[in-house]
Amino acid sequence: MKRKTAVITGASRGIGAACAKVLASHGYDLILNCISNEKMLNELSDDLKNRYGVQILIVCGDVSDYSFVERMFEEISAFTDTIDVLINNAGIAHLGLLSDMSIEEWNRLISTNLTSVFSCSKFAIPIMLKAGSGKIINISSIWGLYGASYEVAYSATKGGIDSFTRALAKELAPSDIQVNAIACGVIDTDMNRSIDEESLELLREEIPAGRFASADEVAEMVFSVITSPSYLTGQIIQFDGGYI
Ligand code: NAP
Repeated sequence: MKRKTAVITGASRGIGAACAKVLASHGYDLILNCISNEKMLNELSDDLKNRYGVQILIVCGDVSDYSFVERMFEEISAFTDTIDVLINNAGIAHLGLLSDMSIEEWNRLISTNLTSVFSCSKFAIPIMLKAGSGKIINISSIWGLYGASYEVAYSATKGGIDSFTRALAKELAPSDIQVNAIACGVIDTDMNRSIDEESLELLREEIPAGRFASADEVAEMVFSVITSPSYLTGQIIQFDGGYI
């Protein structure tokens, strides 16, 4: 039987790397991307190839750059003629008052977190249409649904992803392609390393589950969406330990 293939952006660490591990453990061939930690991604790839015997293509570059994404999909087309799963995961945070934010910082956040989702989906969809199936999973945040003070632009990018998810799901449901988003709460990754311990403790106390989730738990959630019945589409699935 032909092996399944998944594309994961931002796969060098955190949630993306955890998704790569789960999918490889289920026999998926992978296309993995990151912007700068190529060595880390190579090590992950070697480990997964040795452990699970899967094929992996690494394409490093900036997914906020449309022309890079176009080139990435040219490389992907030479590697595989099918994409079963696209996980739009690459993202960056920005903490600070909106009035202190520069237009350059705003543009960087929008292009990294939101335009990348457009670009990767745009190039993956024709390949999925040809196969007559596919799953797109967008990694969003609870702040996209509810908004966070000090993270206005970040919240806007994730809110954009949520609307994109719902609308694209409607566009692609007749073609048997499902589009869903996971709205993560606080996940224990590098993204939150700049927050001081006292603030992290206060945050932990606000979460009914009493802890942050691990990247591995998000990856399990992603995998359950990938393997769920195809009737599940257009959903923004909150994964937040009861936080909101
Ligand atoms: P992370 O540990 O900081 O990892 C970010 C990943 O994205 C890295 O692989 C990084 O590559 C890659 N990346 C960043 N900018 C990129 C670009 N322009 N092009 C290609 N790759 C890029 O973050 P994480 O916590 O796993 O976050 C993953 C996703 O989950 C993000 O979309 C984030 O918004 C979302 N999320 C996270 C949390 C949380 O609490 N952690 C909560 C809600 C949502 P390099 O290693 O090369 O830099």
